[in-house]
Amino acid sequence: MAPIKLAIVGVGKIVRDQHLPAIAKNGDYQLIAAASRNGVVDGIDNYKSIEDMLAAKPEIEAVSLCMPPQFRYEAALAALEAGKHVFLEKPPGATISEVEDLKRIAAAKGLSLFASWHSRYAPAVEEAKAFIAASPLKSMTVTWKEDVRHWHPNQAWIWEPGGLGVFDPGINALSIVTHILPRPVFLTSAILEFPENRDAPIAASMSFTNADKLKVEAVFDWRQTGKQSWDIEAETDGGSMRLADGGAKLFIDGKLVSEAPEQEYPELYRRFAAIIKAGESDADIAPLTHVADAFMLGKRKFVEAFHD
Ligand code: NAP
Repeated sequence: MAPIKLAIVGVGKIVRDQHLPAIAKNGDYQLIAAASRNGVVDGIDNYKSIEDMLAAKPEIEAVSLCMPPQFRYEAALAALEAGKHVFLEKPPGATISEVEDLKRIAAAKGLSLFASWHSRYAPAVEEAKAFIAASPLKSMTVTWKEDVRHWHPNQAWIWEPGGLGVFDPGINALSIVTHILPRPVFLTSAILEFPENRDAPIAASMSFTNADKLKVEAVFDWRQTGKQSWDIEAETDGGSMRLADGGAKLFIDGKLVSEAPEQEYPELYRRFAAIIKAGESDADIAPLTHVADAFMLGKRKFVEAFHD
């Protein structure tokens, strides 16, 4: 099969860190254009807007949309209306209903829509899922604590409505949890801590349950200096599990049983090519639904102002 003629939109941190290297190593793609107000990708045609790019390059078959979530719907709509398959960075949009709208439009046009959840492709996630499937689950604890100044320096959009604040990394944890749990859970309570000068939370704690009365507790915090934590721990009848380092390592009863090099974005691009080939979409909104529930049900606390 000829390579998919791909374009990339919103050239910033994640494009440079992950998308460009992953695309360059995957023979299923030929990157032919980029659209970004300021960013450029060397060696291909660059445009200031997706509309200009789509008009100038009708041969584009698929686009990867990597701008902040608040600006993704318009770009996705333009791409789908022009007949292109669409890869959405996470989170897939700023609201659930706009993502549902994109799903409907993609389905009506026979195009592939991919809501990429990169953390689901972390190397130990599938083994964690298999372990939980084989061992009745008693409880789960999620700890996602990192230093926002290190990971998101001067990213104004992340603190604005729709930027999700601490849920920007926290949704990665939720993408793993929703993938590995045998039965879905729902939120029962949450506390969201908003810096008094910001429109998005810097910390969140959440409790979930389901019809089996499973207890899932999650804590996300962006004020963590020193050791960073991206851990999902589970107590099961078959022992304790810890999926550590964002899904990179799996420990059972304290013993390391799985560790492999990180391949999240290469795996995302393999999956995108596969769904295009199969004529399917893959746009699960479960992680975004839990975030929306937290904004709906969560108590709000105002905390010390945050300055970059
Ligand atoms: P970023 O560098 O701040 O933004 C990406 C690019 O989007 C910017 O360079 C900018 O390019 C464009 N952009 C910014 N504001 C815009 C606006 N108002 N309208 C249109 N375009 C705008 O952010 P990022 O870290 O790459 O994150 C982008 C997305 O990837 C987010 O959804 C994030 O959650 C996700 N993601 C990030 C990471 C990470 O480690 N950073 C990891 C996984 C996923 P121009 O100024 O050139 O238009």
